[in-house]
Amino acid sequence: MNGRVSHWFDGLPQSRPPLPGDRDADVCIVGAGYTGLWTAYYLKRADPSLRIAILEARFAGFGASGRNGGWLSGLVPGDRNRMAALYGRDSVLAWQRTLNDAVDEVIDVTEREGIDAGIVKGGTLHVARNPAQAARLAAEIEEERRWHVDVVPLMKDEAGERIRLSGVVSAYHNPHCARVQPAQLARGLADVVGRLGVDLYEQSPVTDLQPGRATTPLGTVRAPIVLRATEGFTAALPGLRRQWLPMNSSMIATEPIADDIWDSIGWHGRETLGDTAHGFFYAQRTVDNRIAIGGRSVPYRYASRTDIDGRVPERTIKHLTATLHAVLPQVRDVPIAHGWCGVLAVPRDWEASVVLDRATGLGWAGGYVGHGVTAANLAGRTLADLVCGRRTPLTELPWVGHRSRNWEPEPLRWLGVRGLYLAYKLADRHEARGRASTSPIAKLADRIARKP
Ligand SMILES: Cc1cc2nc3c(=O)[nH]c(=O)nc-3n(C[C@H](O)[C@H](O)[C@H](O)COP(=O)(O)OP(=O)(O)OC[C@H]3O[C@@H](n4cnc5c(N)ncnc54)[C@H](O)[C@@H]3O)c2cc1C
Repeated sequence: MNGRVSHWFDGLPQSRPPLPGDRDADVCIVGAGYTGLWTAYYLKRADPSLRIAILEARFAGFGASGRNGGWLSGLVPGDRNRMAALYGRDSVLAWQRTLNDAVDEVIDVTEREGIDAGIVKGGTLHVARNPAQAARLAAEIEEERRWHVDVVPLMKDEAGERIRLSGVVSAYHNPHCARVQPAQLARGLADVVGRLGVDLYEQSPVTDLQPGRATTPLGTVRAPIVLRATEGFTAALPGLRRQWLPMNSSMIATEPIADDIWDSIGWHGRETLGDTAHGFFYAQRTVDNRIAIGGRSVPYRYASRTDIDGRVPERTIKHLTATLHAVLPQVRDVPIAHGWCGVLAVPRDWEASVVLDRATGLGWAGGYVGHGVTAANLAGRTLADLVCGRRTPLTELPWVGHRSRNWEPEPLRWLGVRGLYLAYKLADRHEARGRASTSPIAKLADRIARKP
């Protein structure tokens, strides 16, 4: 199976009815991924009398929220050091702490609301697979501790007690992560907000977004507050082409794996798993005992185009399969069941933001640079506070009100991103030959990209 949005959907969901025509609302939200849904959830909980309309182009969870790697992690969607230089170290420490806590907030809400999203909080196992990666991993441990994240360094054998991977040099465990079934979280949330009285219109694409209104071919929603939650699809909206770059990420999932093979792998703790390569992989053991593994492959399509329902090039499936077999040769004979891809949004400075302009009533949250599963929950709670006019610890966090500059016009954007990922590929090859520290090619690429 290739595409069909993602493996996480068991057949494409039946759509809810579209917008029936013009209407008024107190708050209009564009996009029914985690950001839009969490925002609606917390707004409705704060004020049940609010009339909230969500406009979704396809169906809830169609975007990255229904396609991701299922890392519900405390990872900060941006560069902590750069944000500290702008807004102070204490506010970034608070941001990191709040994101770690948000992992538990999501778990608590799913339990309270009866959403079965296959959540297991087993933390993340980060591994290094060559000496240069090991040097980076050691530096990462120091960096995490500087931000008070209690990661645990692991020797090769200790990592193997968790997951018996091939070629691991060193590792660490970060406890602030849970494995989720992404689409079940998105669909469950959509049902919950529906029950709370939010009007969620599917198959209702917004073609224009202005202060006070969101326009679709089916009608216009007029509302004093209009919130954009369109993440990797934002570039398709008028006037926003260069705001966030739609970065592509791809995944494959194996067929269910037999118990005797699991005996040879371990992975009883359901940790999420990733490595320290520049073109890194991320993986999870799924609820139904498959392995789902992702990586970047084709990073960006010219002129910010997005995929068609998650269809992924065959060479990407081959590349991810080779990565899987390199780290877990035990599954070499297990067939690959599904490949798909999706887009995440990358701002020019790689910093996510939550913004509400009180003068126009326009707001947004996103640009999560691939760490949006937990961050979208925090963003939703924060947008709810902003809309309700409440000053809270959340509205003081450094990403609130942060603005990034636009990306360069084409063809510079395409050339830049393609060049960057070519450089990372070369750097990974360079490092795989055994050099002891990060390849200078990658260091230069990081500087050019202004990447953390
Ligand atoms: C393959 C992949 C793996 C990832 N893995 C992880 C991970 O493991 N952990 C992690 O933290 N993050 C991960 N991410 C990122 C994470 O999934 C996203 O940051 C998060 O889901 C963003 O949620 P969102 O609601 O902001 O955006 P989305 O889920 O993309 O939702 C946007 C919604 O807006 C709708 N929309 C767009 N344009 C319009 C319009 N004009 N009118 C109406 N509706 C519109 C779309 O149809 C979509 O449903 C991954 C992303 C991808 C693609």
